[in-house]
Amino acid sequence: MPRKLVIGNWKMNGTIASNARLLREIKDDSTITELKIGAAAVCVPFLHVPETQRILTGSALRWGVQDISAFREGAYTGEISADMAAEFGTTYAIVGHSERRLYHGEALTTVGVKALRAIQASITPVVCVGETLREREDGAARETVETQLLAVLDSLPADQMHSLVLAYEPVWAIGTGRSASPQQAQEMHEFIRRLLRTRSESLADTTILYGGSVKPAAAADLFAQNDIDGALVGGASLEAGQFLDIVRMAA
Ligand code: PEP
Repeated sequence: MPRKLVIGNWKMNGTIASNARLLREIKDDSTITELKIGAAAVCVPFLHVPETQRILTGSALRWGVQDISAFREGAYTGEISADMAAEFGTTYAIVGHSERRLYHGEALTTVGVKALRAIQASITPVVCVGETLREREDGAARETVETQLLAVLDSLPADQMHSLVLAYEPVWAIGTGRSASPQQAQEMHEFIRRLLRTRSESLADTTILYGGSVKPAAAADLFAQNDIDGALVGGASLEAGQFLDIVRMAA
């Protein structure tokens, strides 16, 4: 796993044609042609994965999905399994994004099982954790993040935990234009790393991304923090120039 990693989360945006244009614009830029393989990725809508694979095969830019089913296969109408995503060369699957926890009622243990399904399909789960504004104001931010993280770690066999990427995404910073300060983010990343260390020394090397209104102007300060290994980028990843600037700052 590259230690500095930037992943774009395109959410439910674009058409096949517009996203293909965006992909080409990103992948043809010298930032990507000179990039360490796998140091950047975009998580696209499921239906755009085949076209993404076609366009990005041979590029240093990897691709991923924004969710996967907690089930392996069978009568689960509307679901997409990790194995199905893997058939299209998918490297990453975001799991436990706050929008899924909020709008789709994803429970703590479901997120853990999704992470496990991804790993079983040789896909790296990008597990999102983060507190709401109310939880931060109540002084419960760490407790929330710890509960979310331990639910995932407890779902994974010890020898599979090293396949994780984590993303600390305070809910109050997602899509709001209000990023956590580098200090706030660093404090939580350090806390997460300490929690990981209680499981094993090597687990403390897990890549931990920050996510929440990351823009080029703030990225350098975030990436300068000891425990911030990169970013999960929503809005700014829909604009090639902004995404590439952030990737460059992480490289
Ligand atoms: C996200 O959705 O993971 C995210 C971080 O979004 P934004 O950058 O738009 O806040």
